[in-house]
Amino acid sequence: MTAVTGPPAKMRANREDLTPMLSQYYELCAAYDEFLVLFQVGDFYETFCEAAEETARVLELTLTQREDSTGTYPMTGIPIDNAASYVETLLDAGYRVAIADQVEDAAEASGLVDRAVTQIVTPGTVVDDELLSPGSTNYVACVASAERDDSEATTHHAVAAVDVSTGECLVTSAETPERALEELQRVAPAEIVVGPDAAVDPADLDGDAMRTEFDADAFASSAARETLEKYVPRPDAVVGNDAELRAVGALLAYAEYTQGDETLDYVSRIQRYDPRDGLRLDATALRSLELFESQGPSAGPTLFDVLDDTACALGRRRLRQWLRRPLVDRERIDARLDAVEELASRSLVREELHDRLRDVYDVERLVARVSRGRANARDLRSLKTTLDVVPDVKAALEDAESDRLRSLFESLDELEDVRDLVGRAIASDPPMEITEGGVIREGFDDELDELRATEREGRQWVADLEARERERTEIDSLSVGHNQVHGYYIEVTNPNLDRVPDDYTRRQTLKNSERFYTPELKRREDEIFGASERADALEYELFREVRRDVGEESERIQSVADALATIDVLATLASVAVENEYARPELGADGIRIEAGRHPVVERQQDSFVPNPTDLTDARLALVTGPNMSGKSTYMRQVALVVVLAQVGSFVPATAARLPMVDRVFTRVGASDDIAGGQSTFMREMSELTTILHHATEQSLVLLDEVGRGTSTADGLAIAQATTEFLHDEVGATTLFATHYHELTAVADELSGVRNLHFTVERGRDGDSDRGGDDAEVTFLHRVAEGASSSSYGVEVARMAGVPSSVVARSEQLVADSQTGDDGGVESAATDGAEMPSARPANASLTSFSTNGHSAAGTDETSMPAERQSTDGTDDRLREVAETLRGVDVATTTPLEALTLLNDLQRTLDE
Ligand code: ATP
Repeated sequence: MTAVTGPPAKMRANREDLTPMLSQYYELCAAYDEFLVLFQVGDFYETFCEAAEETARVLELTLTQREDSTGTYPMTGIPIDNAASYVETLLDAGYRVAIADQVEDAAEASGLVDRAVTQIVTPGTVVDDELLSPGSTNYVACVASAERDDSEATTHHAVAAVDVSTGECLVTSAETPERALEELQRVAPAEIVVGPDAAVDPADLDGDAMRTEFDADAFASSAARETLEKYVPRPDAVVGNDAELRAVGALLAYAEYTQGDETLDYVSRIQRYDPRDGLRLDATALRSLELFESQGPSAGPTLFDVLDDTACALGRRRLRQWLRRPLVDRERIDARLDAVEELASRSLVREELHDRLRDVYDVERLVARVSRGRANARDLRSLKTTLDVVPDVKAALEDAESDRLRSLFESLDELEDVRDLVGRAIASDPPMEITEGGVIREGFDDELDELRATEREGRQWVADLEARERERTEIDSLSVGHNQVHGYYIEVTNPNLDRVPDDYTRRQTLKNSERFYTPELKRREDEIFGASERADALEYELFREVRRDVGEESERIQSVADALATIDVLATLASVAVENEYARPELGADGIRIEAGRHPVVERQQDSFVPNPTDLTDARLALVTGPNMSGKSTYMRQVALVVVLAQVGSFVPATAARLPMVDRVFTRVGASDDIAGGQSTFMREMSELTTILHHATEQSLVLLDEVGRGTSTADGLAIAQATTEFLHDEVGATTLFATHYHELTAVADELSGVRNLHFTVERGRDGDSDRGGDDAEVTFLHRVAEGASSSSYGVEVARMAGVPSSVVARSEQLVADSQTGDDGGVESAATDGAEMPSARPANASLTSFSTNGHSAAGTDETSMPAERQSTDGTDDRLREVAETLRGVDVATTTPLEALTLLNDLQRTLDE
């Protein structure tokens, strides 16, 4: 979705002689000037003039021309029957849509049909099932800031969010705009309503949420309080400060505005939370740990995908929430783990639960629809099907022992009254429409039964009429039929007309026959249609009553939905644990110790994943070195994922894990990873580092996958070393730091809390893991070991990737030269970066490329030694190479382009 900040391009009135219909359209456009107005004309929603051109382009529809007394102008039509998919495309393209329906019967209108906007649709306030993805949340959020009312002149920044499709509403606040922004990021809303004086700017947010300006008056404390009072008896019980009051009040006012006349009564569970009550995962961490979105060029599986074995949409939504907000409260985590352990050991119960929960519909959305008066009879049947599951789920949990399962068992309300009502009232396979009968079950209402009986009897009388009349008239071809215009008739073909009895009255003449009715047929017809019409109206009325009665129990139903969602997730975590051989983690340890840990996502894609241990108990900071592609990033991420999973209350991919309670996971991933996101600037890298160094605590887990690679070797190494020292001396956070700066590993000798880990490789058939200088293939063992690695094996990775052999050979020669101290080549990154090597620019770039796989940013051609400057044109070529390199936009260069460029540069030098 693209965010739009202004109104969509509109048609503007530039003609004075508009037809009445077009004037009506213009008026609605003016009243909803932030929206694209879809204007009902018969079976189509139309847009006109400029808006028509825009709609046709976005929706790839044919632009037609409308002609009226004032001339010709463009028009685009969307078939009403199929409007949802078009509206979805418009929302995805960043539009807000206002649907203007005909609000009076066109047949009865005298003159222009009256039209009004009956629904407005924005990305964050969609309620239509067709426009929502199942099992996900769809939040519209709101940010507001307000001075604290105590003597300290601090400001609160509040974030409120509501999912209009389910009624879930959250509110929280932070003391800095950054923290509020982080929270907003975690909520991941589809749309953000911004208060007039909010210090939080959603423009700083990753992602593509639509930004919406809303009536500033709605943000005033008094107005917000008034709005909130409609939902909760005491607003002060649900908000903690003025900023929260204003955010949630204005948000609900906006939600009301978008839903028109429909009630939002079901938004009664407004939950206030403190972000510090959860393990904090900011946008960078969510992204780099690939919890919900894969970062690779090909969208691979995510942690959520691996865990998602849920049976129903409720569970799927709950699992997302748990993953987004792992816990820090040991008791709550242990309670979840106990439940998961119990379900893991009782496969029959687990399977029974999974099986029954598969019949559960998205009750949260169903109940919201019931409360809004938008549910049809099928929705009520779906609700009943869901509630019918509850007794079985209860039975499956009857012997549960863990506290969490026991309390879920006890809290499950079987809602017999609601099930009974729906069961008695609603037909078992009702139609979509609720106004055309067939929705109320026989036996529910006497009057209705009588009407239906009259109707049935009448129809039966008509059905028998043909035989009776054939006998009476002796006309064998006589038939009885019915059509919409003339009703029931008796049809006699022309040759038999002379035998028509006297009580037949002519109704219609056809080419070969005549149609008649009799006084009795007319009476029966009136009786049938009268009864049918009254029965349909009565059914509609009864249906609305039943729906209202069910709606009154919405809170009880929502708590059942809540319990079913939790049971689904616990059962899912248990089955994932069993299927993947996860182990129960032990929390509250002093430092991380994982035995045979695995990456939960990579292990699914790898034929043979190599498990690795982690011990960050005595030394909390590990410097991880090793060849490119050896598994450093995977290893670091797997440690973080084990921590996250444990705090979610899940078993973890390891044979055993003892873990501390982590308050926050920070990630700073390699520059090369950021290139895909177009953010591989050194500045970005440094600001991420700044966040970590400012906010990490002793309880935090920090992953640094390369630091300082985006600048010169000397600066980069210095920053990496200072960072290591700071995290060790000042912060004390548990840290995994992957680096290609081998000289950094010497820090472990100086600092007691730092240890070196490395990843091993095997070279050739003889298994010599030392750098031997031969051409034998390198095999990555993906096995972590104590101590520092001796080399990056970047050149081998270049060879494996298919870099031209001459470039590989030259690289090898240069690395060998640097190791023997021959200054005719370039020093490797392992040389003392503080003394910048005298290097040819082209060579320096090759070194950087092979060891790090990214830019030649460390190159500084001005340091080219004088003896290298020649008069044979080499000088010019070198300059040309340097110029070319300088002109490369690394952020947008693909690996293939980089290789082609490398080839070209080499040719230039060889010329
Ligand atoms: P670079 O330094 O180039 O960023 P790296 O050392 O961080 O590389 P990873 O990206 O972690 O390497 O791993 C490279 C590939 O190796 C992964 O995509 C994965 O397929 C495989 N791999 C990583 N760890 C393991 C493991 N423990 N067992 C099996 N395969 C693994």
